[in-house]
Amino acid sequence: MSAELKPCPFCGSKPVMRERSGDERNGYNTSLELDCKCGASIETETQNNGGLPTETVASAKRRLTHSWNTRAALAPPEGYVLVPVEPTREMIDAYVAVDARFNSARHDWAVMIAARPEVP
Ligand SMILES: [Zn+2]
Repeated sequence: MSAELKPCPFCGSKPVMRERSGDERNGYNTSLELDCKCGASIETETQNNGGLPTETVASAKRRLTHSWNTRAALAPPEGYVLVPVEPTREMIDAYVAVDARFNSARHDWAVMIAARPEVP
């Protein structure tokens, strides 16, 4: 029984697994690739030793699924945070609650950033 593929950590879409049978060029390894429509992808090949298969395709699929499901969460670089494309009600309320006439854009931005939701 194979584990379900989790949605893409970057866009939430369901990835597609592609399988390509091997030939003499790659030692008869079967290539497996998980692709998401956003461009995220990972790949692997069945393990092989001197032309003798040492891993089944099913095992390689389980290994690839595990890698996909346990990949590191998206971590922005220092000085950046993740925000929703559209400000949430909480972010807008936080902005409205301050008197914008006496604050700089930098201050108002900080207020909205502080009210951002956790990344799901
Ligand atoms: Zn994606």
